[in-house]
Amino acid sequence: MIPFLHRSLSALDPFRQDLEAIHPALQLRVSARARRLALRLDPKGGAIHLVVPKRASMKRALEFARQYKDWIDRHAAALPPAIRFEDGATIPVLGQGRLIRVVFDPALKRTAITLNDDALIVHTNKDDPGARITRFLKALARTEIARLAREKAARIDRPIAEIQIRDTTSRWGSCSPDGTLSFSWRLVLAPYESLDYVVAHEVAHLIHLNHKPRFWALCEELSTDFSTGHDWMKKNAHSLMRYG
Ligand SMILES: [Zn+2]
Repeated sequence: MIPFLHRSLSALDPFRQDLEAIHPALQLRVSARARRLALRLDPKGGAIHLVVPKRASMKRALEFARQYKDWIDRHAAALPPAIRFEDGATIPVLGQGRLIRVVFDPALKRTAITLNDDALIVHTNKDDPGARITRFLKALARTEIARLAREKAARIDRPIAEIQIRDTTSRWGSCSPDGTLSFSWRLVLAPYESLDYVVAHEVAHLIHLNHKPRFWALCEELSTDFSTGHDWMKKNAHSLMRYG
């Protein structure tokens, strides 16, 4: 079974894996304006950018990053902390910021979670309901992704064998030749256009098992707002790893 991963779409992908091996917070930025190799902090995105001039050798860029590994390790450790699922934190859910409100009650038998327009309300007997919140978000991701995937697959008249929701670190979605679609539950924390785009991407693979122009045309047709969704994922998807 060969997974078709949407991160494998460019020739730069092998380098992304090498970068991730140096440090997971390292992100590649190929720049038409940059004159030299550089490392730049992106505290908001929780990332360190390796800026590579357009015509520079990627081999040289990787050597450069390895040479500055100490600097990268030190600065990566100082990046803003992960956003925990706890009382008072605001997390984006299906494209909208929601404040987590934890109501602790030791008399409760089980945790009950409700999502409304601006809050995620957690009635719980647990000291740390973080794992329960993650489970709730995974279930929500499954419902939303399955709905979108079935709707899009029906438009192209293709069956979906199975939909899997996983916690992968670098693959946001994949499609296997037998028609099984897999997605990261963390997409539920992405803007809605991005969630929609990743689903459209994997559904488009039900017809085209490649990233040729006809695939992209179908992917765009199946997306509600292709460029917004695609560009956000390209630039910010790594920030989804900061939650939980
Ligand atoms: Zn793909």
